[in-house]
Amino acid sequence: MTIDGFKLDNVINAIDAARSYVRILKLQDGLTEEGMILRHDVDLDVEPAYVFSKRLEEVDVRSTFLFLTTCETYNVSSTRNRRMIRQMAESGFEIGLHFDPVADDSTDETSLVRRALSEKSQLEDVCGTAVTSMSLHNPGISGLEFRVDSLVNAYDPRIFGPDIYASDSRMREVDIPEFAARNKGRTSQLLLHPMHYSHAGEPYPAPMIEYALRHITNLDEDFCKNSAYKSARRDVTLIEHVNEFTKRKRSS
Ligand SMILES: [Zn+2]
Repeated sequence: MTIDGFKLDNVINAIDAARSYVRILKLQDGLTEEGMILRHDVDLDVEPAYVFSKRLEEVDVRSTFLFLTTCETYNVSSTRNRRMIRQMAESGFEIGLHFDPVADDSTDETSLVRRALSEKSQLEDVCGTAVTSMSLHNPGISGLEFRVDSLVNAYDPRIFGPDIYASDSRMREVDIPEFAARNKGRTSQLLLHPMHYSHAGEPYPAPMIEYALRHITNLDEDFCKNSAYKSARRDVTLIEHVNEFTKRKRSS
């Protein structure tokens, strides 16, 4: 099964088509500029975000990608991720902080602001440019609302409301040109999660399967530097070992 709206080719064409109605903006452009802010929260992995940015570059669009520094499934400071994020910044994309307010136990405002500023510094070290925007991770679940004065907040009421905001959260398709046409002459915001888009446009759980396969391949490559691992693995890839292992488990 595939969903047309989640094919990479289609979403890039839709964003390009939206430009007949609106200018595409980054969060750092401010909250009152006329146009459609295009924002991407990165919840699962850096690579799909990097691929998405490369496709946007082909149609000469620059947008805002926001990264977690407390993510369970990626590390912004790893060699591969640092390289990709820095390259995105150098290509003109805005790098912002995706902040998870429940990533640790302190929920008072002073501690949250202190942690957000420390995460912002970490991200600045990774991307090599100033971080000036922030979005909250799972704001509906955490139920926490707080601001950091020095950062543009993606949930500011001026760019977040039923008419002016659309999101592909939970893999809900958005009619992007229609949304743009409806918001012509205003400031609107569109949130697209890069992990949702692929060549084939397959629905959940495909993004998570892709993630797992990609990381098994990287793990295999990284550990092949270890001679003991390499000889134990023989010429069989780690993915094939995993398949074998799963089959054995099922039949036992
Ligand atoms: Zn998120």
